[in-house]
Amino acid sequence: MTLNFNINYLIFEDMFFKYCGECGHKLDDIKCGDDNCRICPSCKKIYGNNPLPVVEALVVNEYNEILLLKQNYISNTKWTVVTGYMQDRETIEEAVAREVKEETGQIVTNCKYISSYYFAPKHLIMIGFIAYVKKEQFADSAEVDDLKWYKIEEIDNVIARENNCSGMHFDMCKKYLC
Ligand SMILES: [Zn+2]
Repeated sequence: MTLNFNINYLIFEDMFFKYCGECGHKLDDIKCGDDNCRICPSCKKIYGNNPLPVVEALVVNEYNEILLLKQNYISNTKWTVVTGYMQDRETIEEAVAREVKEETGQIVTNCKYISSYYFAPKHLIMIGFIAYVKKEQFADSAEVDDLKWYKIEEIDNVIARENNCSGMHFDMCKKYLC
């Protein structure tokens, strides 16, 4: 059976959507190839159970300092790496450079893929990079409450590990840091 409908990638908190986002009808289970999907029996819209891709970037400058962010909606005490949702029509590397620029003001000169992490609470696939920058003035982003350059040995005490992939990503990046 060939399905000619567009699959809609939505944010799922714990599981599939139960109702159609277009017409509100209750969804039925359906197979799309080997994958479990849902279909609206009324308007035939198909819903895939796919995680959203999110870029995650450990920002490093020419002095081997690491830039961490304070975002109070995430934690009042712990610091995180740059993260952001992919936008339509951009590559993953472009998303890394855009998010680093938006959230910190730093210009990415190079980036290196390190690892990916599945973040179950929000059904996200985090795509982890090291983003290399030259130290610049900080941007003023509404999403960021504070920014600070840390030395590598200071990171373990401040980085978010609970309900957040920042610490795990830092661990994976360590062997590439000077
Ligand atoms: Zn529908």
